[in-house]
Amino acid sequence: MRLIFLGPPGAGKGTQAARIVARHGIPQLSTGDMLRAAVAAGTPVGLKAKAVMESGALVSDEIVIGIVADRIEEPDARKGFILDGFPRTLAQAEALDAMLASKGLSLDTVLELKVDQSKLVDRIVRRAEEAKAAGQPVRKDDDPAVFTTRLEAYNRDTAVVSPYYAGRGQLIEIDGMRPIDEVTAAIEKALAGG
Ligand code: AMP
Repeated sequence: MRLIFLGPPGAGKGTQAARIVARHGIPQLSTGDMLRAAVAAGTPVGLKAKAVMESGALVSDEIVIGIVADRIEEPDARKGFILDGFPRTLAQAEALDAMLASKGLSLDTVLELKVDQSKLVDRIVRRAEEAKAAGQPVRKDDDPAVFTTRLEAYNRDTAVVSPYYAGRGQLIEIDGMRPIDEVTAAIEKALAGG
C-alpha cells in the first residue's frame, strides 16, 4: 500500500500516519523527520536545510526530492509506505509520479486531513505544551510566529497539491477536526474502500 497524507501543518498527519504504521506494517516516510535528522547529524543536506526550516519556509524541491528518492529505495519501503509531509509542491508531486513510474509503481490513495485553519495555532501551542510537559524537545518551528509562516507556505505552495490528485480521482478527504480516534476510524474505513 502506497499512501500520501496531505493537510496543513498541525492537522494531525504525523499522529495518524503513526497509527497506520502500527496497523498496516508499512513505514512512515516523513520528510520533516528526515530533514530534522539531517540537521541533527550535521550532514550537507542538514546544513542547507537548518535555517530554512527554522524560518518556517520550505526547503528546496531539489533537496527534498533527493531524500525521498533515496528513502523509497530502502528495503522496508518495498512493501509500501506512507508519505507524510511530501509532496508539498506541484514540482514534488510530479517528481514523485516520475519516481514511481520509473519503478512501475503507483499510488493507492491520497488522504487529505481537512481542518479549520483558525484552530491550528491553538493546536500547535498545545502540542508544544504537551511535549514540554512530557520532557520532550519542543520543535522550534512550533513557535506561533514561525507556525504562521508555515501555514502561509502551505496555502501558497501546497494547497495546489490536493486538486492535482483530486483531478485523477485519487483524493479522499477526511474531517481532521474530530477526536483523534474518530479520525483514525474514518481513515481505516476509507482505506478499506468504504
Ligand atoms: P513537517 O515536520 O512536515 O512540518 O516539516 C518541517 C519543516 O521541514 C517544514 O516547515 C519545511 O521547512 C521542511 N519540509 C518538510 N517536508 C518538506 C517538503 N516536502 N518540502 C519542502 N520542505 C519540507
